[in-house]
Parts: sequence; structure tokens; C-alpha cells
Amino acid sequence: MGSLVAALGSFLDARSHEGEWYLRIDDIDPPRHDKASFGSIPRCLESHGLTWDGPIIFQSQRREAHEDTLSKLRNAGHLFDCLCTRATLGELGACVMDCRDRKDIEGSVRFHVPTDAPDRIKDLFLGEQHRSDLPSNFIVKRRDGLIAYQLATAIDDLDEGYTHVIRGADLLESSLRQMMLHQTLGRLSPEYGHLPIVTDQSGNKLSKQTGARAIDTDTPNANLRRALAFLGQPTPPQDVDCVEDILQLATVNWRRNALNSKNL
Ligand SMILES: [Zn+2]
Repeated sequence: MGSLVAALGSFLDARSHEGEWYLRIDDIDPPRHDKASFGSIPRCLESHGLTWDGPIIFQSQRREAHEDTLSKLRNAGHLFDCLCTRATLGELGACVMDCRDRKDIEGSVRFHVPTDAPDRIKDLFLGEQHRSDLPSNFIVKRRDGLIAYQLATAIDDLDEGYTHVIRGADLLESSLRQMMLHQTLGRLSPEYGHLPIVTDQSGNKLSKQTGARAIDTDTPNANLRRALAFLGQPTPPQDVDCVEDILQLATVNWRRNALNSKNL
């Protein structure tokens, strides 16, 4: 349900502005993700009438572009190698040891945040969001050699020419980190809008990792109505009974300012 809400919010925001909507599968983290489960994402979107433009983009196939950017950042002196383990990292996963002065080590690679890096986002739904407490560095390449999500996503969003990135509010800090990378690369960031996220009763994000049930793709109309209600949008009358018509009405009725009243 959490994923459907994010997909629907992003779809409606794009369509209501006569925009295109793209599907990218962020599959650069194979140890954690079950490859077979990616197939269910397009099927689930299609069963809800959420059709995308162009081919599906797989982040795992963009390794070369990610490595190129790493080299660029390294040559410009923005990266350092870090030997810290989970036990020695500081608050919010920051490297607080003297890893910046070490040479020829096998560890993770970190981006050192420049002092003039952005610390606020003009969010399309929430208004200006400010975060002054983010650590002065973060991982861009993991110890196991995998490119980190922050770097891959920052680069892919630029290279694919996205104008707007709409996603869950749990990723607001990530958006800011990606903006830091964009600025360092001398590129303009897309605009960001962060949607309320679906949580369980104790306030944890509902996701497969936290054991949330998959939604029933046999009841797409009801699922869409629930997702619309969650996003603070009007739900179509009951006699509107196919996904295409529900989405068409929801596109016409889409209101960005209905999203900022939700708890984040
Ligand atoms: Zn370190």
C-alpha cells in the first residue's frame, strides 16, 4: 500500500501537469533485494492503470555512468576512503574518525559535503524544508564495491532529464544529499515533492522489509480509493468503477496543497 500511494501521487502529479511519467527500477543492491520481486512492480502498476512512458530503466545497467561520476568527484577532491565499521561510526552514520587523512586503504568511499552545500529544499507540497543536522559526509560507494543509492539516484535523475521527483517523505534527507551531489557536479537539481508515507500503528513505515502484506491486485478500484483518501484527495463516486476512469477523475481533481496537512 505504501508503494502504491507513492506511485499514485507521483503519477497524478505528472499527469495533472501534462507531464510524462517514468518507471525506473532501483536494483543496484542485489544482496538485499530479491531479483524476482522486481517483476511484480510493473505488473502491480499496470493492474492499477498506472502506465508509464518509455521503456523501464534499470539502475543496475548504469554502472559505467556511476563510476564516471565517482572518478570526477574523486579527481576534484570531494571523496575520501573510510575504514569505519558500524561500531565506530558517529551519529546518523557519519565518519567521525580521521579517515580523510588515510591513504591506500580498502574501505567505503565517502563524499565530503562542501560547506556551501544546500541545506533546504523548496518542496512542492510541504513548502520549504530545512535540515541543518545532516552529517558532513556520506557513503557513495560501499565497502563491497556496490555504488550507494545516493550517488546512483543523483546521477540517474540528472542523466534521464527528470524535471520532478515525487516520492515518500522518508526520503527527504536523501533528496537533500542528492542535491549536494548535483551542486558539486555543477548541475541543476530536479524539483522535489515529498508525499506522506503510510505507517503502521507504531509509526513505522509500511514496507516489505517491515513485513507489510502485499496489496491484493484483484481489487484495484478499492486500492486506488484508499490511496487517494490517504493522499487527501477526493475519492470518485462509487459508480466510477474502472481504474482508467478513477485515474482520469483523480488527475483532474489532483490538489498539491491537500498533501501538506498530513503528519510526516
Ligand atoms: Zn571513517
